Amino acid sequence: MRIGIIGGGVAGSLAGALLSEKGYAVTVIDPFQHYIKPCGDVVPNVYYPKIKWPVKYEVKKFLFKLDGEEIYSVNYRYPKWLVIDKGKWIDSMRSRSRLLVASRLENVNEGFDLILDSRGPYPMDRKVVYTTRVIMKVDNFDDTAVFEFNTSLTGFYWIFPDEEGIINVGAGFLEYPNSRELVLSYIKRNFKNYEILDLRGAPISISEVNNKQFRIGEARGLVFPLSGEGIRPSAISAEIASDAIAKGDDLNIALDKGLSEIEKRIRIQRILLRIYRNMSINTRRTLVRKLMKNEVLIDAYLEDKIDLAGIAESVEEIKNGVVSRKLQ
Ligand SMILES: Cc1cc2nc3c(=O)[nH]c(=O)nc-3n(C[C@H](O)[C@H](O)[C@H](O)COP(=O)(O)OP(=O)(O)OC[C@H]3O[C@@H](n4cnc5c(N)ncnc54)[C@H](O)[C@@H]3O)c2cc1C
Repeated sequence: MRIGIIGGGVAGSLAGALLSEKGYAVTVIDPFQHYIKPCGDVVPNVYYPKIKWPVKYEVKKFLFKLDGEEIYSVNYRYPKWLVIDKGKWIDSMRSRSRLLVASRLENVNEGFDLILDSRGPYPMDRKVVYTTRVIMKVDNFDDTAVFEFNTSLTGFYWIFPDEEGIINVGAGFLEYPNSRELVLSYIKRNFKNYEILDLRGAPISISEVNNKQFRIGEARGLVFPLSGEGIRPSAISAEIASDAIAKGDDLNIALDKGLSEIEKRIRIQRILLRIYRNMSINTRRTLVRKLMKNEVLIDAYLEDKIDLAGIAESVEEIKNGVVSRKLQ
């Protein structure tokens, strides 16, 4: 069977590598030879893909800010998040299939038996938030992951450790598409000595998509809209797709079934986002302050498991002492 995969990001390159391993003739089609899309590069430390990702850094400390004010900080006893070398991981997975550099499928005349769409947000048949991320060298490196929410706009700034001495700073706000301007002024306000090494922008999907058939990863809408986490769900969808193809199962049924829990959690976040957007600024401020001080909800948020089962899991974890210190 000849398989074409359009888009060699997390989902496409992983599905391609897994299917190539199983003996299929796979062609991954992407406009770029190397993966260049910007990212926060963090994943919750709860899932390990079938092809391992290189880990650059471990994150145990988190700080939550609201409109410039520090509201809550927490330290975990174990790495809650991992910072991965996403570009290296994807490029190494791409090299296990045949890679065709092309931006339009119409230009690729290959006669595939099956085509998977893994173009990330780029089908653009959904609402997106435009984000910008900056990689920079700093003198005062800190290993804390910072989220800074802003009540007049929907979204957040982030500062994540990348590797010793280097941080990943970004911004994405629904009502203000020029995230580049926002992040640059945020950097000026918050850092004195720094050197920008890379600056790029990209959209993140925040709504449902028009069509999920034969789609994996963010192309299918697999991103948690409150956090922007999309690496893990995209990788999981690639694993489900490659297993279904190898077993001869119906691909779309297998994806719907295998992703039902993740898609339910994404739907809950979309509803919460809609409710939040309709609130007055004052209500937002009161609510976010309250939520940020709730260690169970913060724990569930950091792993994108905001439903009853996920919250119950967080309650259990906190009871078992995963948090070593918290400041309020
Ligand atoms: C700034 C930013 C920060 C983020 N931070 C995080 C984070 O810290 N943690 C996390 O889990 N998620 C994060 N995300 C989300 C995450 O990056 C994506 O959800 C994830 O990469 C989706 O994987 P994917 O394989 O579905 O798509 P992508 O990784 O987007 O890959 C899509 C691929 O399709 C290619 N493509 C585009 N157009 C075409 C075309 N016409 N034909 C063929 N190929 C095409 C692209 O070049 C790309 O290689 C972030 C996103 C952004 C934008």
